[in-house]
Amino acid sequence: MSETVQGFIRETSDLFKRDQYLSTLDLELMACNLLNIERSKLFSSSVCLDSKQQTEFLSMIKRRNSGEPLAYILGTKGFWNLDLVVNRNVLVPRPETEILVEDILFNFNKAHLNVLDLGTGSGAIGLSLKEERKSWEVYCSDLSKTALKVAKKNSIKYGLDTKFICCDWLNAFKPESFDLIISNPPYIEKGNTSLESEGLRFEPYEALVSGTTGKEHLFYIASSASRYLKKGGYLYLEHSPLQAKDLTLFLKKKKFKNISEIFDLNGDKRAIKAQNF
Ligand code: GLN
Repeated sequence: MSETVQGFIRETSDLFKRDQYLSTLDLELMACNLLNIERSKLFSSSVCLDSKQQTEFLSMIKRRNSGEPLAYILGTKGFWNLDLVVNRNVLVPRPETEILVEDILFNFNKAHLNVLDLGTGSGAIGLSLKEERKSWEVYCSDLSKTALKVAKKNSIKYGLDTKFICCDWLNAFKPESFDLIISNPPYIEKGNTSLESEGLRFEPYEALVSGTTGKEHLFYIASSASRYLKKGGYLYLEHSPLQAKDLTLFLKKKKFKNISEIFDLNGDKRAIKAQNF
C-alpha cells in the first residue's frame, strides 16, 4: 500500500524515538534521496512511497539508527564547492579540512602550480582545488585502489582533469616536483576510544589510524616531503589539535621555515603549513 511520505516520516520517527543519531532532518534527506526529489517538494501531499520504497526507507533508517554516517547512506557529501560521491572505502570529508583549501586559495594565485593531494580519499582536497584553479596541475594519490576509484568518479562528475596515482605516500614521485603538497593523513592513535564511537567505526580504519601515537604518518610525511617539494614550496598537513606542538618542533628540526598553524572553526589548531628551503 502506498503512503504519503510525511505520514511515513511521522510514524517512523515515533517508532524509532529519534535517538542520538536519527534526526528529522536525516529522515527528510533520506526520503529526498530515495525519491530523487528536492526538499521543497517533500511536503506536497502528492508525494507517496510505494511498498518497495517503504522497505528501502526502513532499511536506510535502520542504518542511520545504528550510527552509520548519513553521507554513506545518501552516497554523497558536500565539501567546499563540490558534492562528492562517497562510500565506505573513503573517509567522509570533514568541514575542518576545508580550512586547508581556504588557506591555499587565499595565498596562492599563480596560474601554474604543481599540487599533490597526498592520501586523497574521495578527492576532497585535490578536486576542490582543481575546480577553483583550472590551470593548476593537480595530482591525487592514495594507497587504496578502492578510494582512488571514488576520487576518479568525482573527477568525472565535475569534468576535472586530474592525475591519479596509486602509491604509498611519496615514493612514486620525482624529487622537487611540487609547489604544494597537501595531506589529511590518518592521525588517530590505535586504541583511541573515539574509534568505537560516533560514525568513526564505519569509516576505513587505515584512513583514520596512524600507529600507537597517531603521529607516525604525519612524521613520515614531514620527513620525506622536502625532497619532493620545489625550493620555496609549501607542505600543508591536517592534524589533531593535540599534535600541533610536536609537529611544529618536528618541522623545525627538518629545516622547514615559515611554519604556521591554521585554526578550524572551533578555534582549534587543526592544520599546519611549512615552507621548504
Ligand atoms: N584527503 C581526504 C579527506 O580529507 C582523505 C583523508 C583520509 O583518508 N585520511 O577527506
